[in-house]
Amino acid sequence: MSIDRKVKHKLELHKALQQKGLRSTKQRSCVYQTIVSKQDHPTADDILLRVRKKLPSISLATIYNCLETLVDCGLIKQVNFDRSPTRFCPNLTPHAHFKCNQTGQIFDITLDKDSVKDLKSVLPKGFKAQNFELSFLGSTDQSLN
Ligand SMILES: [Zn+2]
Repeated sequence: MSIDRKVKHKLELHKALQQKGLRSTKQRSCVYQTIVSKQDHPTADDILLRVRKKLPSISLATIYNCLETLVDCGLIKQVNFDRSPTRFCPNLTPHAHFKCNQTGQIFDITLDKDSVKDLKSVLPKGFKAQNFELSFLGSTDQSLN
């Protein structure tokens, strides 16, 4: 990741934490940088392994605390698939997830404004969604991998 992007993420993190009256700690910063640097929807265990390369003594409990804070601040989102551990996604633009049941890989599927509008149009009158989650499960063409 370039220095510029690192600085940009650092500022985003600082600003979001500040809005909640929280400090930007080394642990929070490291967890956030880890998630944005490889957008592959890691689990808390994946994140622990990656963060330990920089902070060898960090515990899983601290990772969970940091993740909770980052979710609270709206910097990352939780992604849940049936019967698998929660994953984390830093992509805040409207998107669906596609999980390949052969490789377990999760892809971000960008949703344009019209698709989001179409999705919301299925809601009955009087139902106002602030948020939605859309997940596909299936297989992908080998050439994509
Ligand atoms: Zn995602």
